[in-house]
Amino acid sequence: MAEKDNPLKAKIARLIEVNGPISLAEYMHICMADPEFGYYKNREAIGKKGDFITAPEISQIFGELIGIWCISAWRGLGKPSSFCLAELGPGKGTLMSDLLRAAKSDPEFLSAAQVVLVETSKRLKADQSAMLTKNLIDSDKINWANDIASLPDMPTIVIANEFLDVVPFHQYVKSDNDWNEIGITLDQNGNLQKVRLAGKADLTAMPKDANKEPAESVFEYSPAREAIVETLCDHIEAYSGACLLIDYGHLQTGFGDTFQAVAKHAFSDPLDKPGEHDLTSHVDFGALVESAKARNMKSVAAATQGEFLLALGLLERAGALGANQDDEGRNAIRAQVERLASPEQMGSLFKVFGFSSTLSSLPGLSNWDSSSA
Ligand code: SAH
Repeated sequence: MAEKDNPLKAKIARLIEVNGPISLAEYMHICMADPEFGYYKNREAIGKKGDFITAPEISQIFGELIGIWCISAWRGLGKPSSFCLAELGPGKGTLMSDLLRAAKSDPEFLSAAQVVLVETSKRLKADQSAMLTKNLIDSDKINWANDIASLPDMPTIVIANEFLDVVPFHQYVKSDNDWNEIGITLDQNGNLQKVRLAGKADLTAMPKDANKEPAESVFEYSPAREAIVETLCDHIEAYSGACLLIDYGHLQTGFGDTFQAVAKHAFSDPLDKPGEHDLTSHVDFGALVESAKARNMKSVAAATQGEFLLALGLLERAGALGANQDDEGRNAIRAQVERLASPEQMGSLFKVFGFSSTLSSLPGLSNWDSSSA
């Protein structure tokens, strides 16, 4: 049996044998965060040699433009002389490093910033430290936190790229009349398979017409992602601030199975080889917008990644970078710009979601109203 080559599969099988089926959220949490065999503990996740490439790894311009966004938000907050600049799930530290380099244009901003990297993976904390030290960032300025509950009590600007998609979520499937939660169990051969969990699912989070959906429709719901947005809202409500969360997903809550596994830059079966693939789903920004609105933020705003980057000056910055390069260099920059912003690549699928307790609008984003979707 395959368990021999995959210790995490054996561990999950034992858990199911003892306790019965587990929820998809529980499965995802174990796969990503198991202290011995979890994905972030053991895998080289990000980069060409890893499993997937993220926007900051595609071009330095991504982090630079987010730096400009942060400076603008900080000025809007009244230039607090000390503030927390937090990044959730900073990966290799590339975004923060590019951001801080771009922010050298405003030394007052840089000296006011207390950088907090919210990261659970020891391996990635080491990568982040190496990246920031290599780029001569003063190590006294950088702190690590394990969760957002430990952000310091001061004005706060939060950024995150591809952080929400790794947070666990639940799936529900429609039978003729009811919705059941999907769980993970073992088949006769000891392999993992999906199962409908007993008991009717709680329907409160679903769109109004959910019962008109055809049988086998899938609905995804992540209370953990909503709790993150609510905690951030409460924090900036108390101390002032703004948040910018970027990820793939949809602005309108809908139906469909988006559970995905990626390894070595290819999609695979999420139930195959637990702990060896990055497990994610598309982020339901529609639900997160509602969470932020319910917390009475002064602005709740969104855009596609393409719209956001173009509004912040993607083409101008690419032109300036390309001016010192030969044709090959300019072509490479052009390809990076297309990858980040063109609707056929990351430009439409990726969304930028911002909210602030203090600012009535946010650079590069349109304030959300019921017609925004
Ligand atoms: N933002 C980076 C990396 C995205 S990968 C980039 O754009 O390249 C997801 C990141 O979230 C990793 O750094 C991972 O270790 C981190 N992460 C996953 N679960 C987390 C959690 N519960 N708390 C904090 N960080 C987490």
